[in-house]
Amino acid sequence: MPFDFSFTPDQEAFREGVRAFLAREVAPIVAEMDEKEEFPAASVRKMQAEGYFGVPVPEEYGGLGLGKVGYAILLEELGKVDASHGTILGAHTSLGTTPLLAFGTEEQKRRWLVPAARGEKLLAFSLTEPGSGSDSGSVRTKAERKGDAWVLSGTKIYVSNGKEADAVIVMAANDAKLGPAGGVTAFVLDRGMPGFTVGRCEKKMGLHGTSTAELVLDGVEVEADRVLGEVGRGFIVAMTALDVGRVSLGAASLGAMEAASSGALKFAQERMQFGHPISEFEAIQFKLADMAMRVQALRYLVYHAAAEQDRMGPDPRAWNRVEREAKTRNAAIVKCLASEWASEVIDEALQVHGGLGYIRGIPIERAYRDARISEIFEGTNEVQRLVIARDLIQRGL
Ligand SMILES: Cc1cc2nc3c(=O)[nH]c(=O)nc-3n(C[C@H](O)[C@H](O)[C@H](O)COP(=O)(O)OP(=O)(O)OC[C@H]3O[C@@H](n4cnc5c(N)ncnc54)[C@H](O)[C@@H]3O)c2cc1C
Repeated sequence: MPFDFSFTPDQEAFREGVRAFLAREVAPIVAEMDEKEEFPAASVRKMQAEGYFGVPVPEEYGGLGLGKVGYAILLEELGKVDASHGTILGAHTSLGTTPLLAFGTEEQKRRWLVPAARGEKLLAFSLTEPGSGSDSGSVRTKAERKGDAWVLSGTKIYVSNGKEADAVIVMAANDAKLGPAGGVTAFVLDRGMPGFTVGRCEKKMGLHGTSTAELVLDGVEVEADRVLGEVGRGFIVAMTALDVGRVSLGAASLGAMEAASSGALKFAQERMQFGHPISEFEAIQFKLADMAMRVQALRYLVYHAAAEQDRMGPDPRAWNRVEREAKTRNAAIVKCLASEWASEVIDEALQVHGGLGYIRGIPIERAYRDARISEIFEGTNEVQRLVIARDLIQRGL
């Protein structure tokens, strides 16, 4: 019983439903979306209507209540089909709804979480700044008190969904001298607030369906009811969201690895050279075997971490210190391994395709461009190794 890794019939049914939906509504449009570099608004709306943007959110707050395991199932299936849709959904759900669920007041949950989980509003999460990336506690966007309210000024960059989001969780410095320990506060801003504008959108190597936007805050007046969690505790808000994001990124990488591996296997069985399918050559067989090993190992890691997060529940007040630290280490391990294995597996799958793998429009070529960012965003893999090593030194293996 303690080692039961099987899915429930409901989880299997959910996976089947997602698979059928993605085959019908998403797979047919991704090549064109990638080529035109357009946000896939129509398919996103359909996903929202299915409830997919609120999968782990409890039903009382407008979600499907399927927990982190259900959410990992969705992202694994999305990862097989398209990384852009996975990123749009992850930026909204992991990074947008998690802080609202974990730290929001009842009023904030009703105001932002419920419409977000129902798919009526799209969320984004904005931590990074030009001078503050890996050193994310050093944000310089200023939050100055003005009576009971706040005034926010500064520039945020690289915000996924930044162009389309209806509301954004923004980290700003209430006291830059204090840094992550008391100096960062999380705020919820709505699109169109006076002084809050979208700046330039980046052109990127991959993830062509996503916007990666600059957000400019020019004296944005914010009432106190937009502070998420406690003043000065925004770094914890951000890290709590990123723990969820890193496991869901692992699930999306798992899906991308599975699609790349099965595509390579199929191609190897069909492609004839020297009078034989190339799958009969040992060099190709070893690549396929290496891919299968990574897929199988990662599947256990991802679902173990997701089940662990479900067991702990969404309320940080219920977690003890050991659980919290173990969760953060596990999320870092999953994110780091998943993103590196995905890059390796997709690279080898492209190699199996020979020259065809390098041709624009072939799925493995898009997967290759899309995969690379996973080693960088939601905390670079160097930072994940620091997180893992610090925890090892404190708590041992
Ligand atoms: C497509 C895309 C989408 C993104 N989406 C979002 C989003 O939605 N919201 C958001 O807030 N941010 C987002 N980001 C930002 C992303 O999380 C950061 O780019 C990332 O955390 C790295 O920060 P940086 O780019 O400033 O690199 P830096 O921090 O400048 O790092 C440069 C290099 O130095 C290394 N390095 C830095 N410090 C150390 C150290 N102490 N030890 C060892 N090595 C170190 C890094 O690992 C990296 O290799 C996104 C970025 C991209 C490209």
